[in-house]
Amino acid sequence: MHKLKFALLGSPPAFKKKLPVGQLYFPDWQRYESAMRGIFERRYYTNHGPLVQKFEAKLQEYLGVKHAICVTNATIGLIMAAEALELTRKVIVPAYTFIASVQSLSWAGLEPVFCDVDPHTHQMSVEKIEHILDENVTAIMGVNLWGGACDISKLQAFGSSHNLKLYFDSAHAFGCSIGTKKIGNFGELEVFSFHATKILSATEGGCVCTNDNLLAARLRNIRSSYGAGIPVPVVKTANGRMSEAQAAIALMSFEEFPKNQENNYHLFKLYKQYLQKIPGILLIEPKGVTFSNYQYVVCEVDKKIFGLSRDKLVMLLNAENIASRRYFYPPLHHLPQYNNGLQNKSLRLPVTEYLCESCMQLPIGQRVSEDAVKKICGIIERAYESRHQLISFFKGVHC
Ligand SMILES: *Cc1c(COP(=O)(O)O)cnc(C)c1O
Repeated sequence: MHKLKFALLGSPPAFKKKLPVGQLYFPDWQRYESAMRGIFERRYYTNHGPLVQKFEAKLQEYLGVKHAICVTNATIGLIMAAEALELTRKVIVPAYTFIASVQSLSWAGLEPVFCDVDPHTHQMSVEKIEHILDENVTAIMGVNLWGGACDISKLQAFGSSHNLKLYFDSAHAFGCSIGTKKIGNFGELEVFSFHATKILSATEGGCVCTNDNLLAARLRNIRSSYGAGIPVPVVKTANGRMSEAQAAIALMSFEEFPKNQENNYHLFKLYKQYLQKIPGILLIEPKGVTFSNYQYVVCEVDKKIFGLSRDKLVMLLNAENIASRRYFYPPLHHLPQYNNGLQNKSLRLPVTEYLCESCMQLPIGQRVSEDAVKKICGIIERAYESRHQLISFFKGVHC
């Protein structure tokens, strides 16, 4: 075999330090210090403090939504949402999503009914749910993926004609718009994640948005066992409060969102330019929105054309210190806890199953430069050119 220059085959890695896939926003140190000094001076750590209140007001204004209710993270936000909406029995949810979407249903004592997604947009659609509806389904959890959105107006019409509640996991969609309306205003409510990997970061954090006053009052009372605002009766309460330290970072990240979005858009276009030359690599563009946050770079690896499977390519990139990952994996309807004995084993969701075998995420965000994008795409291109030798290499190492 020729000497191939890949870290997996013994060459030095292309990057000295691991290049993350997520945004990983870090404010500059002086700003961080002064924000933390404020918290020290006020001697106020949590319980709906001044920074959380300021952040909620900014979100409401920016999103044009009546209520932005900040929480510890999106997972707890989704669990609180199920309780606030008083959902019962079964909820339709795509099997192609991050596991937290579905785990929130488990925590709320609800049963997920998995639907497939569209092969081109990766989003759920009415066509994928009509045939799985039964009398025990009370709601639909839409998931807006990759800085794009599902066909919300069709889902809304379908939901209301079948008397189903509709709400959204919009963890990927902060700042995105459909026409003049920002994501955050659709369905009964929407949940954003401000996890460190997301474009708007509170380190950990999230937010439930709604235009419904009663629902908002319920959510605020569920969020804290201390209660807050108008005391409406709720059965369960939790601790989903966002701390002042989280809100301090979130406020800085919010201020820099336009700059970070622009930078990601720029990097995304570079990826598009370089990747479109490589056979078998399909970059997924955010669909269904008029403005995207370009939070993630996701592509499909078509093994038949590219020569190597997604898993092999991810292995090759990881060795170069590029933290590419399979995303999402595994298909959620294959997990033992959602298998219901044999019931789901026979459940075929072909698009989800294909995407879970072929999609990978590449780095974008604050730590990624133009040069890094060029280098990453160069490695993928070389992997394609060397596919025959790499196939023999992988055969030799039996993986
Ligand atoms: C990140 C993410 C979540 C979970 O958000 P946390 O804030 O980490 O709890 C839920 N759903 C999707 C689709 C996500 O990407």
